[in-house]
Amino acid sequence: MATVLLLGGTGEARRLASVLLPAHRVISSLAGRVADPALPVGEVRVGGFGGAEGLAGYLRAERVDAVVDATHPFAARMSDNAAQACAAAGVPLVVLRRPGFEARPGDDWRHVPSLDAAAELLPALAERVFLTTGRQGLSHFAHLSSRWFLVRCVDPPVPPVPPRLEVVLDRGPFTVEGEIGLMRRHDIGVLVTKDSGGAMTAAKLEAARALEIPVVVVDRPPATPGVPVLPSVEEVAARLPGLLAAPK
Ligand code: NAP
Repeated sequence: MATVLLLGGTGEARRLASVLLPAHRVISSLAGRVADPALPVGEVRVGGFGGAEGLAGYLRAERVDAVVDATHPFAARMSDNAAQACAAAGVPLVVLRRPGFEARPGDDWRHVPSLDAAAELLPALAERVFLTTGRQGLSHFAHLSSRWFLVRCVDPPVPPVPPRLEVVLDRGPFTVEGEIGLMRRHDIGVLVTKDSGGAMTAAKLEAARALEIPVVVVDRPPATPGVPVLPSVEEVAARLPGLLAAPK
């Protein structure tokens, strides 16, 4: 039976694990950032590999036949490491990456290349900010003492964080009605989001459109060159037999 290493931390990765089982041995890998993560079915390992070299060693030791990089679109270091390690160990690699968000009529989106660029833009836009970029990037906004932040994340943030903030601990999926209510209650004037894509988190964008609130969209880091990228669980599942059969 072929062994597939699934680099996860996303809903798609959990779904893919259940599609690939029981025909394959599936090892799902999580970074270990979240205290109480949603777990996929099958084998799970938690924690870093020790860079690209460590991952290449792991692939050899576990006799991994193929790797699916189903990490979040912003987990760029892990994706680069996976590409290097798979090349070094001669293991086929495919990336599962959900498509990004798409603007619709009525949207007022400002694209920026980074969290720092988002922080730079905010003072010109509004006083009260709904920040949904995750707890790890909060330090990029910590100097903005003149703005008030509503921060939503899964686990409590650690300093440095903006001085004026309220934290909502929650994990999607969210509803449009719920997002509209949350933004109204907190009198939000601007939403900040990563271009994560996916239905799980798209409700806030519909809510911003309904409330005519501008959205700062942090663009994705570039994909690792030379690695095939597929947009859905079904397409990865269909491509996998070919990858496993290809001569090494
Ligand atoms: P990152 O910056 O690309 O990765 C930093 C390091 O964390 C990697 O070099 C690796 O350590 C370890 N790592 C990352 N993902 C791993 C995985 N699936 N299994 C084992 N080790 C992993 O990643 P990140 O942005 O911190 O994201 C961490 C995890 O959270 C990812 O699995 C991602 O899918 C998930 N996530 C991220 C975001 C986001 O906005 N970035 C949002 C939702 C979920 P070593 O070098 O030691 O191997």
